[in-house]
Amino acid sequence: MATMNRRIVLASRPHGEPTPAHFRLEETRVPSLGAGEILLRTRWLSLDPYMRGRMSASKSYAAPVGIGEPMTGGTVSEVVQSGHPEFPVGTLVQAFGGWQDFSVSDGKGLRTVDPGRAPPTTALGILGMPGMTAYTGLLNIGAPKPGETVVVAAAAGPVGSLVGQIAKLKGARAVGIAGGPEKCAYLTRELGFDAAVDHRSDDLPGALAAACPAGIDVYFENVGGAVFDAVLPLLNDFARMPVCGLVAGYNATELPPGPDRSPNLMRAVLTKRLRIQGFIVWDFASQIDAFERDVGGWLRDGAVRYREDVVEGLENAPEAFIGLLKGRNFGKLIVHVS
Ligand code: NDP
Repeated sequence: MATMNRRIVLASRPHGEPTPAHFRLEETRVPSLGAGEILLRTRWLSLDPYMRGRMSASKSYAAPVGIGEPMTGGTVSEVVQSGHPEFPVGTLVQAFGGWQDFSVSDGKGLRTVDPGRAPPTTALGILGMPGMTAYTGLLNIGAPKPGETVVVAAAAGPVGSLVGQIAKLKGARAVGIAGGPEKCAYLTRELGFDAAVDHRSDDLPGALAAACPAGIDVYFENVGGAVFDAVLPLLNDFARMPVCGLVAGYNATELPPGPDRSPNLMRAVLTKRLRIQGFIVWDFASQIDAFERDVGGWLRDGAVRYREDVVEGLENAPEAFIGLLKGRNFGKLIVHVS
């Protein structure tokens, strides 16, 4: 077995866009195990927008990665040594192994991945954290009713693509916002969205209004920025807005130029009786069985589909992650590590 562990650590904290210089590839010895511990070899690493938040020291819902520490991240890993009866050698698990070849676990929080059920990488996408985010945020907060219009941005990604597909299964009209004609065509032709709007088009507000002739009842917020500005005037009375992510602003270093638009927002909240609620996926941790049953069933029946963007090699994780924040990925971004 390999004796060295390649890992990518946070070299410094970015101000604005991260660059490759904010990361460093190191080699350390593969850690040795204590009693009851498990050595995991990373097979696939998930890259997700939230990792930009972990690179920053500002206060958030989770602690930042320390300088010199390996970047955190969800993985599908293989048990290669085990002192834990529940996880024998050879088992595939969903873990939080981070950006490295090997990690050590005491078994807490590990979930066995059954490769007979679905491809193991789905544990990082449609059957994992992003899928659970779409399912719980849309159904608990968005609560779409048949005939309503649901709009979601970052719609070709793992969260947005499932939001639109579940909206359709619930009888709603699904409108996706994505960057570029290829992603938009994917939404309508392959995923069954009713309409797709390119957020890079010259007239985003006009294009979105044309795609939503009856206004918007649920806006699943993944993006913020110019997309939110185009959505706000189209929201119907009693519209719901699960606030899941604000990726357009993750690299921002200052507030956008004025005038201050918050009075307009609050006026819309009041006069249209909007319900806006932020959430973090694990707020709904108790719904994981329902999620696995429903989305697992829909996937098996072909009622929902997914797309992956797999990058080869741990050393390419920083570039891939930088691209994720700019929409260079097309589908769930995963690094094939070993
Ligand atoms: P994606 O794979 O969809 O990647 C992010 C996408 O955001 C990019 O591909 C890009 O797509 C889009 N994007 C980036 N910048 C802009 C911009 N300025 N305007 C419009 N779109 C932009 O990511 P995920 O599906 O994993 O995540 C989607 C959102 O959900 C993120 O905001 C993420 O932080 C959030 N999230 C929140 C969780 C929670 O618990 N609250 C859990 C998981 C995810 P395009 O090419 O279409 O522009």
